[in-house]
Amino acid sequence: MADPSTVLVLLGPPGAGKGTQGARLSESANMRHISTGDLFRSAVEANTQAGLRAESYLRSGQLVPDEVVLHVLEEYLVKTEACDICFDGFPRTRRQAERFDELLERIGLCLSMVLYISVPDDVALNRLASRGRDDDSRDTARYRLGLYHSVTEPLIDYYEETEVLVRIDGVAEEHVVFDRITSLASEKGFRWTR
Ligand code: AMP
Repeated sequence: MADPSTVLVLLGPPGAGKGTQGARLSESANMRHISTGDLFRSAVEANTQAGLRAESYLRSGQLVPDEVVLHVLEEYLVKTEACDICFDGFPRTRRQAERFDELLERIGLCLSMVLYISVPDDVALNRLASRGRDDDSRDTARYRLGLYHSVTEPLIDYYEETEVLVRIDGVAEEHVVFDRITSLASEKGFRWTR
């Protein structure tokens, strides 16, 4: 894998604004924004083997099995040039988080910061309803939010233990949330590279 010096994770429910903030981080802090959801959507479009395995999970809003996620991600990372990276939508399960730690350790890196963007369920559901992606229909959105609470939210405790977690209130305009991210990150002593 490439040798990024900074590794960030954006954690939060669907509709929290992880994709939006990841794009901002990639623009203004020159980070590579890696969304596993985007990787899977591209794989489905390109009809790759991973895409074929992932398609029904994406459509129904279920989580793609950990082994498939980890395989796709590792395959992508080995092709990636050295850079700072911001992960969006990964890790999503305890198993993914543990394997991610192992992977980072293997390549001599540690997680710089986990940005937990919180929004209440009603805000998340309203945002998903206005986004209109295939897997944003009311029932699927509700299902994905439920999965987030049961499977992904426990990662907050996981990362709180290692003191890399930063909480951000995600209920505000995009640029306000971004300012919150950068100022909280600075308080933590985090320096953006440009
Ligand atoms: P997202 O774009 O992050 O909302 O992800 C869209 C869909 O891709 C999810 O509903 C899952 O089916 C799949 N997906 C993305 N990232 C992961 C992950 N880390 N683990 C399992 N499934 C994922």
